Amino acid sequence: MEVIWHARGGQGAFTAARALGAAAALSGGLHALAFPTFGPERRGAPMRAYTKIAASPIGDRSALRQADVVAYLDETLFDDGWEAELKPGGIVLLNAPHPAADPRIVCVDADAISAEVLGRPIPNTVLLGAIAALSDVVTLEDVHEGIKATMSVRLQEANLRIADAAFKAVGGGGSARASQELDARVAAGARPVTVHDASEAARQNVTRTPYLRETFALPEDFARSTCFTGGHLVSENAGWRSVRPVLDETVCTLCLQCYLLCPDGTIFKVRDEEGNVERVAVDFAFCKGCGVCAKACPAGCIRMVPERKEARA
Ligand code: SF4
Ligand code: SF4
Repeated sequence: MEVIWHARGGQGAFTAARALGAAAALSGGLHALAFPTFGPERRGAPMRAYTKIAASPIGDRSALRQADVVAYLDETLFDDGWEAELKPGGIVLLNAPHPAADPRIVCVDADAISAEVLGRPIPNTVLLGAIAALSDVVTLEDVHEGIKATMSVRLQEANLRIADAAFKAVGGGGSARASQELDARVAAGARPVTVHDASEAARQNVTRTPYLRETFALPEDFARSTCFTGGHLVSENAGWRSVRPVLDETVCTLCLQCYLLCPDGTIFKVRDEEGNVERVAVDFAFCKGCGVCAKACPAGCIRMVPERKEARA
């Protein structure tokens, strides 16, 4: 079984890829390989990870072009090219709260399921539980062992519960192969599967506000850098930023290097009543905490501080 994971840096796709490989290799008695590919950026940028599972040692360490399962941890990465990556009989696992038109796409509200346990949406383990439910390659017990082998003790208990919830939500019995499951669905003319297994309260905790930039009051004051299109977020930061930039305005020279180099176009100009730029500011709804601005600032007036401490003071 081969799996392509689509996600943004920071959403835990590589952890999920490794946990699935560990589930198959350490618990399921198979051979596995897991590795990521990252783009030119870091946190928040589109990335991919891969898991290969086989009955014999795997020599091919190249990236996958097609897979039996293509998992999207972030719905904004799903586009018209999805079919090209899917093997015949394969299945797409999409983190989305609504049904898909194509029966090959299984929608799982992974943000809501994980938010119900963790208090914030971290969708990676949800899709692990879903894979256990839709495949006979790994069982839920294997996935448990994979989580224990790859996650810190502090995170294990919550992620085991998330995997259990996802397995149950997808209707897991652990017996049907994904392709057989799919064939049966299609033959029966079944409607696309959508899983809503989280409370309304948890669902309300999940922020989905697409394309806010187009409605911002001063769109002309955001930069359009060369890497803006490739890496920018189109929905609000989902809560995975761990550090944030803090600007010392008393030292800032208004050179605008941070404004120009922020890969997400998140820094904007603030103008006075006459229209002159008086300072720069960060749109924290979109900032992903990558730290590029802090490295770029020639005056050294941007510090990256832990999100949960000084930043919220
Ligand atoms: S404001 Fe700074 S930390 Fe935030 S996304 Fe832009 S460069 Fe990265
Ligand atoms: S790079 Fe530093 S000095 Fe230049 S505008 Fe940004 S914060 Fe100010």
